[in-house]
Amino acid sequence: MTRILFWVALAFLVIAAVRAKLRANARRQQTAQSQHQERAARRPAAPPAVTAEPMLCCAHCGMYYPASENVPAAGRDYCSAAHTPAH
Ligand SMILES: [Zn+2]
Repeated sequence: MTRILFWVALAFLVIAAVRAKLRANARRQQTAQSQHQERAARRPAAPPAVTAEPMLCCAHCGMYYPASENVPAAGRDYCSAAHTPAH
């Protein structure tokens, strides 16, 4: 009889522990979610996404460089005036 009581008590404890763990997990998730929402609400204007500048490949040396530094010559792109065909 004591054996049955022991197993019943053990099963009850295991179930209680599992339920407590699940409840703690749910609460943690909820608080994390509300914190995230709070933080998002505090700064409504997100910083503008950094836009990557397109890169071009030099027809002479093959180096990649920002498109703003492009030196077009004879319909091709070069990294500097020194690499254009005229030089
Ligand atoms: Zn070059």
